[in-house]
Amino acid sequence: MAEKNGKKVIIIGAGFGGLSAAALLAKNGFDVLVLEKNEGPGGRASVYSEKGYTFDMGPSWYLMPDVYEKFFMEFGKKANDLMELPRLDPSYRIYFGNGKVLDIAADLDKNIALFDSLEQDGGQKLKKYLASAKEKYDLSINEMLYRDYKSIFDFFSGRMLIEGRKMHILENLDTFVSKHFTSDEAKKIVEYSIGFLGGSPKNTPSFYHIMSHIDLTLGVFYPVGGMRKVATVIRDLAENYGAEFKFNEPVTEIIVRDGKAQGVRTSGGTYESDIVLVNADYAFAELELLNPEYRTYDRKYWERRVMAPSAIVFYVGVNRRFESLAHHTLFLDENWEHNFDEIFDPKKAAWPKNPSYYVNVPSMTDPTAAPPGCDTLFILVALAPGLEDSPEIRERFYTLIMDKLEASTGDRIRDAVVVKKAFALNDFKERYHAYKGTALGLSHTLLQTALWRPAHQSKKVDNLFYSGHYTHPGIGVPMTIISSTIVAAELTDKYHK
Ligand SMILES: Cc1cc2nc3c(=O)[nH]c(=O)nc-3n(C[C@H](O)[C@H](O)[C@H](O)COP(=O)(O)OP(=O)(O)OC[C@H]3O[C@@H](n4cnc5c(N)ncnc54)[C@H](O)[C@@H]3O)c2cc1C
Repeated sequence: MAEKNGKKVIIIGAGFGGLSAAALLAKNGFDVLVLEKNEGPGGRASVYSEKGYTFDMGPSWYLMPDVYEKFFMEFGKKANDLMELPRLDPSYRIYFGNGKVLDIAADLDKNIALFDSLEQDGGQKLKKYLASAKEKYDLSINEMLYRDYKSIFDFFSGRMLIEGRKMHILENLDTFVSKHFTSDEAKKIVEYSIGFLGGSPKNTPSFYHIMSHIDLTLGVFYPVGGMRKVATVIRDLAENYGAEFKFNEPVTEIIVRDGKAQGVRTSGGTYESDIVLVNADYAFAELELLNPEYRTYDRKYWERRVMAPSAIVFYVGVNRRFESLAHHTLFLDENWEHNFDEIFDPKKAAWPKNPSYYVNVPSMTDPTAAPPGCDTLFILVALAPGLEDSPEIRERFYTLIMDKLEASTGDRIRDAVVVKKAFALNDFKERYHAYKGTALGLSHTLLQTALWRPAHQSKKVDNLFYSGHYTHPGIGVPMTIISSTIVAAELTDKYHK
């Protein structure tokens, strides 16, 4: 552990952004206090338990294991030292709207054979596509993701200047994919994962086809105990290095005097610090915790952003097992463009009539997720942020999704339901202070990537910093951990003298 540097950091929020920053900064010698509004760590990765069923309320895919590994290495650990982490096989199952059901295997050769069955030379095409995805992924990891961007010169410097043109930044993913594959199924297999970044194939640059390297090559893992286990592990690391956590203590104001953050006010009192690091939703913190003269981005800025989708999630406990479902199962509608329009086109924004959706069954892999012989289902449907939300709408939507799920699987799932809870737009607003009820923060359009995401450091208050899914590199637990790695390195550089 580094020598104490006498600097106190207050971190607002104990999501993965706050947790990972707390661990890194405490290890680097800062005095760290984390103030979290809710009852426990994890943020979007909160936990809901009822009658022996335990639900991860948010993230369920452990992707980019290399990023977690790099983070844990900072503490001299491997992920496997800290948790049980099997690779899932199949990685996931897809029900297509045309009635086909396919398993995506952990074994690449099996997936190559699968693509051969979908279209002529499908296997060769997949190999070529994945080679390109790997090349861009390696470039991203080595040159882009772990760097901060403060100006256009940072973006187009070094290897990025030479390699950047290979990133096809002006082409969208959908156009790129159509150059590689012809069958509807092959296209959807390589495109669905853009949902992880809160985008659609048409509004996301093609270099994000790195997502296929992530899910098809690097693989899909499961931390036994759920994503909440990962949150607990990082909190433990932070506490081992002396970080302090206070839960149920929402911050109500960032106190700024003469252009410097002095500390924060909470529901319980006032805390002084040398540095304030915001992990809470960026838009909320700027608009609600700071006086207007200290905001880097005003209300108009946020109104013009492309927000990532919100969602409705049903946490459903059933009193039997359903073999028709894998650990991760995707239900992709034939006409999914229409569904993307309902999510991303403000003029067409609406509760979807025929949505694609996702079902997670952690109890397939993890006996602690449900009572013996039972399953824990997490059913997620992406929605446009800002939609009207009410108990009646949710209930109608539950019926629609259950009708679809039962028709696709041929199972009478509703008869087996013993626990049921819905979480949607209003809950995202209320529980996480999410702007317009977004589940995922800020979408990854070209103009909201790298340099064009909200900055890690306030432009108005010198000692005020931000990390988490709104900032570079963006959405998803691994990306959030990287954002805190960047900020922790900057703070260490700036203050550890
Ligand atoms: C339904 C869903 C499914 C997802 N699936 C995946 C997945 O499978 N894999 C994956 O990698 N990612 C997934 N994600 C994305 C991932 O969860 C997020 O990108 C990541 O967790 C964001 O972390 P964060 O720390 O930036 O934000 P958050 O997790 O939102 O943390 C911010 C914290 O700040 C707190 N806060 C807010 N206001 C205040 C205040 N005034 N005072 C104190 N604290 C405050 C909040 O309560 C919260 O704890 C999913 C997200 C959702 C919502």
